[in-house]
Amino acid sequence: MFTQSRSLQYLPFRIRPSPPEFFRLCGEHEESVVHLLAACPSLAATAYLYRHNLVAGVVHWHLMRLHGFLPGSSCWFTHRPPAVVESSAVKILWDFSLQSASHHLSNHPDIVLFDYDLKKIYFIEISCPADVNVPSKEQEKLQKYQSLAHDYHLMYRMPVIIIPVVVGCTGVVSSNCITHLRRIPDFSNNLFCTIQKAAIIGTVHVLRCTNVI
Ligand SMILES: [Zn+2]
Repeated sequence: MFTQSRSLQYLPFRIRPSPPEFFRLCGEHEESVVHLLAACPSLAATAYLYRHNLVAGVVHWHLMRLHGFLPGSSCWFTHRPPAVVESSAVKILWDFSLQSASHHLSNHPDIVLFDYDLKKIYFIEISCPADVNVPSKEQEKLQKYQSLAHDYHLMYRMPVIIIPVVVGCTGVVSSNCITHLRRIPDFSNNLFCTIQKAAIIGTVHVLRCTNVI
C-alpha cells in the first residue's frame, strides 16, 4: 500500500495532461469560458451581434424618447432602431456609414447624434467584450474615430464627442465608464442599469444559442 507521499509522487506519471478540447462550434479554438462568451468567430455575426444590438438599442431608444420620437411608455427590449430619424432639432443615425472628404478606415459609428440645438455631434460606439478586455476596448473605441471626428468638426463647425459604451459580457465596466456615459444627453443611473441589464440578457442569449443552458 502506498504512503501518501508515494501516492503524490506517482500521480504525475499516472495523470497525463489531456489534449486541448476545441470548441464544438468553430472547431478551431480551445474551449474556455472567455472563448464561449465573447471570442468565438462562429458566434460573431449571430449571438454576439444580437447582444451588441440589444445594448446599442437601449442607447438609441433613450435618445429617441428624449427627443420625442417615441412615447414615454415604449419599451427598450422591443425597440427596433430605424436607420435615420430627423427633426428640426436633431438627427439620429443607426448603423450608418458616414461620408467625408478623406478616406477613413473607420467611418461607421454605431449611433450618431447631430444635436442642432446643443450644436454638438456625438459618435457613440458600443461593445460587449470579455470582461478582461473592457479597458483596452474602451481605449480602442476612443481612438478609432478620432480622424473622422476631426473631419466632422471641420465640416459642421460643431464639437464631436466620442462616447465608448463598453460593458463586459457579464456587466463589468471600467472605472472610466460612468465618466464616458455621463456625456450621453440626459444620462441617468437608470439608463446605466438598463445598459448593464441588456448586456447580461444578451449573454444569456449566447448561452442559450450554444445549448449551455
Ligand atoms: Zn470558437
